[in-house]
Amino acid sequence: MRYISTRATATPPSERKRFCEILLEGLAPDGGLYLPETYPQVDDATLTRWRSLSYADLAFEILSLYVDDIPAEDLRALCRKTYTQAVFGTAAIVPLKQLEDGLYLEALSNGPTLAFKDMAMQLLGNLFEYELARRGEELNIFGATSGDTGSAAEYAMRGKKGVRVFMTSPDGRMSPFQQAQMFSLLDENIYNIAITGVFDDCQDLVKAVSGDLEFKRKYKIGTVNSINWARLMAQVVYYFAGYIQATQANNERVSFTVPSGNFGNVCAGHVARMMGLPIDQLVVATNENDVLDEFFRTGVYRVRGTADTHETSSPSMDISKASNFERFVFDLLGCDGARTADLFGAQVPRQGRFDLGPDPVFAQAASRYGFASGKSTHQDRLNTIRSTWQKYGVVVDTHTADGLKVAHEHRQAGVPMVVLETALPIKFAATIVEALGREPERPAQFVGIEALPKKVRVMAPDVQAIKNLIAQACA
Ligand SMILES: *Cc1c(COP(=O)(O)O)cnc(C)c1O
Repeated sequence: MRYISTRATATPPSERKRFCEILLEGLAPDGGLYLPETYPQVDDATLTRWRSLSYADLAFEILSLYVDDIPAEDLRALCRKTYTQAVFGTAAIVPLKQLEDGLYLEALSNGPTLAFKDMAMQLLGNLFEYELARRGEELNIFGATSGDTGSAAEYAMRGKKGVRVFMTSPDGRMSPFQQAQMFSLLDENIYNIAITGVFDDCQDLVKAVSGDLEFKRKYKIGTVNSINWARLMAQVVYYFAGYIQATQANNERVSFTVPSGNFGNVCAGHVARMMGLPIDQLVVATNENDVLDEFFRTGVYRVRGTADTHETSSPSMDISKASNFERFVFDLLGCDGARTADLFGAQVPRQGRFDLGPDPVFAQAASRYGFASGKSTHQDRLNTIRSTWQKYGVVVDTHTADGLKVAHEHRQAGVPMVVLETALPIKFAATIVEALGREPERPAQFVGIEALPKKVRVMAPDVQAIKNLIAQACA
């Protein structure tokens, strides 16, 4: 298996990359995103065989189709080390919870940080440690977070050899629970940096440090953002696991509804469908930040400005653009790298938008690729959290509520609908209290975390000071 960029016109075989070459990279040099040159096909007999596998072994089978530069026994060991009951809480790893006949939640948020990003990030931590040791290299992950991504990265990389994490966050702006989750990590290789400013200041620091190419090279600065192919690939596994749990035989079809922001999660569903998994619809659920819903309704992809980007009660979906969306558009355009480059490399930067509405391929997003969409508001979230509690006795988090609301609008008779549960309610307690008048349940291992000792340094948004900190840590 080799990887190509979504913006490449013709990639000579010698320039096609192998998995471990793109593992530690972000964007392709031409600004595009890496994709496998083809999607491996999973036939009926294989899918049947996979029905009896553990999650870790299913992950190994799927990853093997995309990774041919890690020996099989090592890859299997990495999967088994990652997907354990000790880390994810159940033997099934991603159990389905039936709400009613034909409607399920797939629990993706029982990892260390109680959000679905653990599903991929935990694997990434082990892959990074493995590959860095093999190369005899080190990596300094430098990122900005307003919550979920940063803590998932820290919990994945804590104690890993060869990796340090420098994570900036806006000082005092995360919830007490989120702060406690991140700042209570005392591992030597984890650096929590609270920046006296807002999230944009943190992102500007990341841009400034990564933009200094000499510094970046000298100190091996990397990221773990959602455009990383390995993260996407790891997420493909739980679509197979969800399908297998919801069906008895391979002639049954299943639909998924996915609370979406950067289009990483649902893009993994698209990849699973392209591999031949019998998925009927892939329903994209957004909050008020409806960039993706607008596209799937109209064909217009329009990046939002800061003033147009809403702070909502499902904050992990508050995006102004969907950074993984380019991968799907590349497929939609028949793998036309030149056109993808024009849309994302020229039209979006210049006009902030493009319009595929008039193009005949736009209709294929639904007809050929199964996409549908919908959006939800704060009031919808409150209503859904209440009605889900009243009807099923289940408390869902705000992101999952966005998914459930939209899922109800797209259910079809005879086709099970699986809604991905992307976080546990305790992470967004304030909205649960607003909806239900009481605190959500707190998993035992999180009782009292606010009182644990914290390791965090408060710094001004000063590029040089941050560079000094990184340099000192590496000395
Ligand atoms: C990141 C996140 C999302 C959005 O996922 P994308 O891959 O960005 O679409 C949804 N819900 C939660 C809880 C998240 O942390």
